[in-house]
Amino acid sequence: MDGARHPFKERAVAQCQGITRKGDQCKRDAKPKSSYCAIHQDQEVRPPDPPRGDMEWDSDAIMKAALGFALVGVILLLRFRR
Ligand SMILES: [Zn+2]
Repeated sequence: MDGARHPFKERAVAQCQGITRKGDQCKRDAKPKSSYCAIHQDQEVRPPDPPRGDMEWDSDAIMKAALGFALVGVILLLRFRR
């Protein structure tokens, strides 16, 4: 380690815009394409989730799959319990 952690002078990464628990601005580097680091990324104002019209059938299928797995789990449990 020679101390030169950043061989390139330019900072492609911006400083995190998050606020620490002390109320100061975070000094960490923001993640790429973000204004916040990993710790404060949930402080980022993001647009609300778009309505998932196409995803409705998908969640229904997931629900059915989950029910199926639960049923199989119960059956297996009962079989092994004697
Ligand atoms: Zn931060």
